[in-house]
Amino acid sequence: HVPARAMVYAQYGKPSEVLRVHKHALPDIKPQDVHIRFLAAPINPADCNQVEGVYPIKPPFNTSLGSDEPVAVGGNEGVAEVIALGDQVKGFNVGDKVVMAQAGRGTWRTHAALPASEVQLLPGFNNQVSLVHAATLTVNPSTAYRMLNDFVELKEGDYVIQNGANSAVGQFVIQIAHAWGLKTINVVRDRPNLDELKEYLTSLGATHILTEEELSKRETRSKLKGWLDGRKLRLALNCVGGKNATELGRYLDHEGKHVTYGAMSKQPMAVPAAPLIFKDVSYHGFWVSRWTDTHSRQEREAMFGDLIDLIKQGKLREPVWEKVSWKLNASEQEIETAFKEAVDKGITGFGKGKQIVFF
Ligand code: NDP
Repeated sequence: HVPARAMVYAQYGKPSEVLRVHKHALPDIKPQDVHIRFLAAPINPADCNQVEGVYPIKPPFNTSLGSDEPVAVGGNEGVAEVIALGDQVKGFNVGDKVVMAQAGRGTWRTHAALPASEVQLLPGFNNQVSLVHAATLTVNPSTAYRMLNDFVELKEGDYVIQNGANSAVGQFVIQIAHAWGLKTINVVRDRPNLDELKEYLTSLGATHILTEEELSKRETRSKLKGWLDGRKLRLALNCVGGKNATELGRYLDHEGKHVTYGAMSKQPMAVPAAPLIFKDVSYHGFWVSRWTDTHSRQEREAMFGDLIDLIKQGKLREPVWEKVSWKLNASEQEIETAFKEAVDKGITGFGKGKQIVFF
């Protein structure tokens, strides 16, 4: 029986206080199950919210891993390798790299035994695709891909406007748009090293970059008109909320769509009447977990295939990341200490990038 360890919690609370390592062994394989070994998994802000009990997806608490009290395993995305197959499992081979078919199944663990229907292949995965890319494919790049694809039919040369453009999702919006021949107007907060940030976003393929202050200035209207050169701006992506989100909506053309996926400023946004009445601008929300639950595995696989192609072509960079080590021979204490430090960085944002656990 393969020895396994998982980062679990028995009650909601501050992640660095409630998480602990639980040791167990993988059970005998069931006919419809696969056994997988995790290779890498990120610590996303939403994962931490989930441990705090304030995220809409609540994983089940149970004693299936042999714990004394019911526990849930943390983490929502990650990449794993198939190490054993039940005799009724079709469509998978030992050695295949897989991701979770849905959120909330627990990825902060060395191994898992689960129905084959709960994992999904990464089409086209090979050694040109790093573990970091594979481990982080299902949330940020997928969100950017869907928002550029699903709301407005965009043609080559069309523009998209977004705020929070330097967020991880925003950076994928820039890169995917660039790869698809779309142009982006990117709004960021002012900062002392703004030129450095502009240079970086431009290197990813950003077309224009504005600060939040510039966006609300009158003269920006004519500047934007010049950039658009007769093209209609019909898609706005909102990561921030508040006043800035309202401003984005003012730039949309007739039947434009304003899509909210984040609320980093924690401020509600006002929806002005004029664009609603005179331009039929509409306001939408996007949540990648809902998209996954309401679309087929084939559609999700097709998206992964497209994203993996872009990675292989060098068109999508890895997110900036920091390694969290989970050595197989380390003590429970060592694993917990490293993990808790990483989780705190994941929440405060004071790390040097996404915290990624390598098992
Ligand atoms: P990152 O940590 O990479 O980026 C955070 C961004 O928010 C930065 O651009 C930061 O800008 C900006 N920001 C932070 N605070 C404020 C503020 N008060 N006002 C304006 N901007 C602010 O985050 P992710 O890309 O991982 O996620 C971004 C958001 O998207 C999160 O809310 C996340 O939960 C959400 N998300 C939603 C998904 C969905 O399906 N709906 C999927 C993935 C993510 P600065 O550099 O200026 O601090």
